Amino acid sequence: MRKKIVAGNWKMNMTFEEGQKLTSEIVNMFQDEAIQDVTVVLNPPFPHIHPVKKLIGDVPGIYLGSQNCSDKESGAFTGEVSAKILASFGVQYVILGHSERREYFKESNELLEVKVKQALAHGLTPIFCCGESLEIRMAGTHESNVKFQLTQSLFSLSPEDFSKVVIAYEPIWAIGTGKTATSDQAQEMHLALRRHIATKYGKEIAGNTSILYGGSANPGNAKELFSKPDVDGGLIGGASLKSRDFIDIVKSF
Ligand code: 13P
Repeated sequence: MRKKIVAGNWKMNMTFEEGQKLTSEIVNMFQDEAIQDVTVVLNPPFPHIHPVKKLIGDVPGIYLGSQNCSDKESGAFTGEVSAKILASFGVQYVILGHSERREYFKESNELLEVKVKQALAHGLTPIFCCGESLEIRMAGTHESNVKFQLTQSLFSLSPEDFSKVVIAYEPIWAIGTGKTATSDQAQEMHLALRRHIATKYGKEIAGNTSILYGGSANPGNAKELFSKPDVDGGLIGGASLKSRDFIDIVKSF
């Protein structure tokens, strides 16, 4: 059985105080409302990593992630943060290949392949993002585009390593736009991705891979999205900055 996961991507938001408040509220609601069977991952900006970890403590079911890691192991790379450093601070997940990093920081499929390997080498679980632009969707080549992202960045992994990866399908046209993919559009792509994974790693590994949906997911549409057989959770941007909304999404399975 694959894991159900809801991950919050705070992006470049939240001051220290705001991050502390948000995390405390999420941890309290998660416990008070006795949420079970869902893995929750908080992905704050780097400076929050240590204080957020302290607030999460050892509450079962809530994990800490980062939004990026370096492709380098260590050394003279000013401003970078390695997977090794993150792991030493108790980080367990790392978002890689987000469309904002692909677009604004020119991260290529090849670079992401190296980052994924760095993350895995230090015991971090990559949440590997893929997704097409509106232009590509209009041209009707979205399926092959997204499959190609997986092939290029992930298909050199051993089956054992691939089994540790979480996939997030995030159509770029749905991110921060309020324009969610319909649950049928999400299901269609998730199934296509799962079948693509099966061609390389077999049905069992494909069947055990969690594939999350991201893009304007909110408490109003999460239930419908999560009801689809191949949608195993969500990667949440805007709605992860409000504790009530985020927890309501977590409770939408
Ligand atoms: P929104 O939920 O704000 O659309 O962002 C989605 C996203 O990019 C999560 O990584």
